[in-house]
Amino acid sequence: MFHCQYTGKLVILSAPSGAGKSTIVKHLLKTFPRLEFSVSATSRAPRGTERNGVEYYFLSPEEFSKAVERGEFVEWEEVYAGTCYGTLCTELERIWSKGNVIIFDVDVKGGIRLKEIFGDKALSIFIMPPSIEELRSRLIGRGTDAPEVIERRIQKAETEISYCHKFDRIVVNDRLEEAVEEVTTLIRDFIG
Ligand code: ADP
Ligand code: 5GP
Repeated sequence: MFHCQYTGKLVILSAPSGAGKSTIVKHLLKTFPRLEFSVSATSRAPRGTERNGVEYYFLSPEEFSKAVERGEFVEWEEVYAGTCYGTLCTELERIWSKGNVIIFDVDVKGGIRLKEIFGDKALSIFIMPPSIEELRSRLIGRGTDAPEVIERRIQKAETEISYCHKFDRIVVNDRLEEAVEEVTTLIRDFIG
């Protein structure tokens, strides 16, 4: 069981890749000064302009396994074959010790797991794409993934969508401004 010296609230945003959760999180961080992004650890190498401690804590696969063995993760998962991601206990302590609310951008399994761990301390929101076709066109438009990676993400999305009922709230990201508004209201009600 996870123990932390400090505790506080947390907001979990999960979605199939390409549904727009990073875009929505960026807006939320501007609106809520008390909201602080939980930086996950990953065993993959940095891409492009990614910096250690900003987008992720980049660990080698060996370092990641050692941290798992030492019980340093609240939750972790092999999100893609051979690539692990997880939330370090020290990251939660870092944010809660400042009296801030944690915002998570994790995959659907991770989001469900975090909600199970933190219960009423957590608000979990599923960001739903308007359709699979729109999800595909957003992934193509984002231009960060090869066609076969996009197809893998789409296949995964279909399974992920079938778990949406496990979240406290579902917000459809059709028109971005409306989705941001809806999520903002949910968070305002939750953190007060
Ligand atoms: P995720 O973090 O869920 O993988 P992103 O936030 O990277 O998704 O969004 C995927 C792509 O879709 C980005 O290019 C983003 O600009 C675009 N996008 C996000 N929300 C919308 C929307 N409501 N309508 C159209 N395009 C969107
Ligand atoms: P990438 O950044 O490599 O494109 O994708 C990362 C994927 O892993 C996304 O689906 C993201 O939501 C998920 N992810 C990031 N951090 C964590 C984490 O700490 N735990 C879990 N379970 N998933 C994570």
